[in-house]
Amino acid sequence: MFDKILVANRGEIAIRIIRACREMGIPSVAVFSEADRDALFTRYANHSCPIGPAAAIRSYLNIPLIIEKAKESGSDAVHPGYGFLAENPEFASACESAGIKFIGPSSRVLELLGDKVAARREMQKNGIPVVPGTDACVEGYEHARSVAKRIGYPIILKPAGGGGGIGMTIVDDEKRLHGALESAYKIAGTTFGIPDVYIEKYLPNPRHIEFQILVDSRGNAIHLGERECSIQRRHQKLIEESPSTAVSGEMRASMGRLAAEAAGSVGYEGAGTVEFLFSKGEFYFLEVNARVQVEHPVTEMVTGIDIVKEQIRIASGLPTSVRQENVRIRGHAIECRINAEDPLKDFVPTPGKIHSHHPPGGPGIRIDSGVCGAAAIPPFYDPIVSKLIVWGGDRKEAIHRMRRALYEYIIDGVDTNILFHRAVMENERFVEGDLGTHFIDTETTLIEDMERIARREKTLREKLPAQSLEKKKIAAIAAAAYRGKPA
Ligand code: ADP
Repeated sequence: MFDKILVANRGEIAIRIIRACREMGIPSVAVFSEADRDALFTRYANHSCPIGPAAAIRSYLNIPLIIEKAKESGSDAVHPGYGFLAENPEFASACESAGIKFIGPSSRVLELLGDKVAARREMQKNGIPVVPGTDACVEGYEHARSVAKRIGYPIILKPAGGGGGIGMTIVDDEKRLHGALESAYKIAGTTFGIPDVYIEKYLPNPRHIEFQILVDSRGNAIHLGERECSIQRRHQKLIEESPSTAVSGEMRASMGRLAAEAAGSVGYEGAGTVEFLFSKGEFYFLEVNARVQVEHPVTEMVTGIDIVKEQIRIASGLPTSVRQENVRIRGHAIECRINAEDPLKDFVPTPGKIHSHHPPGGPGIRIDSGVCGAAAIPPFYDPIVSKLIVWGGDRKEAIHRMRRALYEYIIDGVDTNILFHRAVMENERFVEGDLGTHFIDTETTLIEDMERIARREKTLREKLPAQSLEKKKIAAIAAAAYRGKPA
């Protein structure tokens, strides 16, 4: 096992990794930018060291500096979390050359899967159905035109090296193809450094369903069931759950096995996610995410398997701690991403200072948060405050529990999207499990629902005694108790 692990990330995921290290008895090292000097994760690690300015490009993305800190601190492994350097083959390769274990797949596999067109080809070879589209990158307008004609409009143009939903363009008809292609090339080049674009058929309102896989160095490739991540805004996930209401036990077993084996066949090692779109009863491969994902806790809640510990075990050469036949899906879990953003103002980010953070508790609740009592949500990074995850014996109980937890959640100081989550948890279609990636666009009453919940809450609060009265009452009780008299 490793002597020490450097955590090359920040916020809630850094804390998640540090927690796994502590439970495994492995000392951890946090690295932090100037913006994160007082952040909770720097206090939870055994050691922490500054890595420069707030701008990620000079701190969390600074490969030579992170390698240097790993060496200096005597770390023999690096956990990259998600985002930042997590799927960067150059970083994995720098770790490999420095003799530090990168907790994730090899740089070669990261390179292969980072090219989404190559990944599509590999998966197809292994019998995995892909969304109809190009087998290679688009070679100009005429090529794009003939592909579009073959598969039919609407189509979606995607950057081959892309991620985070950035730069994807939907094209409804041929008239728009030329302009869309030009701008897609531009975005692909400027944002991802690879000016390559590919085409997929644009599926109408599919579900997003993904399989969690674990592959160890001894050839065990297993899956931990699926997550449904159809509640998205601008292709970014907001609510995830496991299991999916659309997946039968049989489908889970066959698709899960296929996904795990396909990853194993390209030499994948570690935890990963094979993402699919699901439409009219069919799965279509999207991409492999070669890292731990934001939404991994829902899988942990229903399987009882600690995915981060599995990553660390696998990286150190140990086998997965479970075999496929022992993986059981029990109950239902839902995750709401609590972001500092205003859902009533088109989800504009609202970074700032949190005055108080009082997360919900009680049965079946898990909070993965990067903040404590009073903390800052810096404007430089993702505006995530925490992930609220609930477990219930079934989906209905999980929804009721999530409603209760969202009601209890107090965050003062910054606006958050809690109101949005509350509206979704009360939404009829959501409750029925009738989901699709266009859910937010098509459920036009969500804004009204949020306003209604906000009004209801305000009326409730107004009925409560004023805070100053409360304070006076508490002072009177304390004074009476001190004098030994009943208040
Ligand atoms: P990224 O890696 O940038 O996140 P993905 O390929 O994983 O991009 O797609 C993200 C989301 O975009 C999907 O969950 C889905 O909502 C939408 N999407 C992607 N491809 C298609 C498609 N071919 N048809 C319909 N929606 C799509």
